Amino acid sequence: MAGEAAVYRRRLARLLERFPHLGVDAILFFEMKNICYLTGFTGSDGVFLLLPDKGVLLVDGRYITQAREEAPQSYTIQYRDKIGGVASAFGEGGVKRAGFEAASLSVELHEKLRGKLAPCMLIPLTEELTGIRSLKDSQEVLLMRKAADIATEALLQVIELMRPGVEERTIALEIDYRMRALGSEGTSFPTIVASGPNAALPHARPGSRKLEDGDPVVMDFGAVHGGYHSDETCTFVLGRADAKFREVYAIVKDAHDRAIDAVRAGAACREIDRVARQVIEKKGYGPHFSHGTGHGVGLDVHEAPRLSALSDQTLEAGMVVTVEPGIYLPGQWGVRIEDMVLVREDGCEVLTKISKELKII
Ligand code: ZN
Ligand code: ZN
Repeated sequence: MAGEAAVYRRRLARLLERFPHLGVDAILFFEMKNICYLTGFTGSDGVFLLLPDKGVLLVDGRYITQAREEAPQSYTIQYRDKIGGVASAFGEGGVKRAGFEAASLSVELHEKLRGKLAPCMLIPLTEELTGIRSLKDSQEVLLMRKAADIATEALLQVIELMRPGVEERTIALEIDYRMRALGSEGTSFPTIVASGPNAALPHARPGSRKLEDGDPVVMDFGAVHGGYHSDETCTFVLGRADAKFREVYAIVKDAHDRAIDAVRAGAACREIDRVARQVIEKKGYGPHFSHGTGHGVGLDVHEAPRLSALSDQTLEAGMVVTVEPGIYLPGQWGVRIEDMVLVREDGCEVLTKISKELKII
């Protein structure tokens, strides 16, 4: 994580500016990625209370030392039980309307909190908070570049191992191992290596199927660096590419290229999806492109904004999003091509570096 206190102060100030608009005089955070973003604390349990004059980070005994180290600019409190801790942090503070992340608080916890904090009102916040991490600063972009570089290097090493007879899960394990060996803190998500007919499943799990000559192989993978993720998909073909594969690959590549060309600040997210989808629909494969065109990436591998027909968000300079059209032919095979791009005022920069030209290995 970016360790500078100024970074967190800036993030908190941006939120505090919105208090009047949100109609709250405090916000309670339970979502750990948001807490990490706002404080630097990387533990897996805790609560963050943002008050007009300070940020209070509440953790249990397992995390108190880590919290003080990672989030020195927050006021840190150790609790025995979470609800009691939150109630004491509210103290005599006179908070009348406390916002909370509706998406990450269970009904049970909400009921208990409401009882403890009365007469303070709890105000559910949903869309108001989904985009707080969308715009990346230069430090965040640096971490994501590094994550993408690690993933690139790992995949390039693994290409040498890909030949007929090798199991999908061996390839997946090698990608994971090499990413970790190169410094990745984990994998962005369970690595996908899907060969032949398995490649027709957008979220296939790597199994014991052995690669065969002529197989398309979809590989979707990502590294983690400083808590930030990368996300990229390559579809290679083993030994030889027949005419049908070349045709479908060219269509997906065209959809991918045109969508990336359309990415710039001010473009509607649904427009990027439309550009990619239109290329695929015009060639008659519309029903075989069964997911959205992309998503934001950051502390989570899937975060706001979504690049789909249902999105009403607009791209802004500093967002990092994926562009990942695909065509999936059930029982046969599939092709997906995914890059992660940084949105700029006049276009975008592709952060994932592996060439997406047709590759026969
Ligand atoms: Zn992916
Ligand atoms: Zn993705």
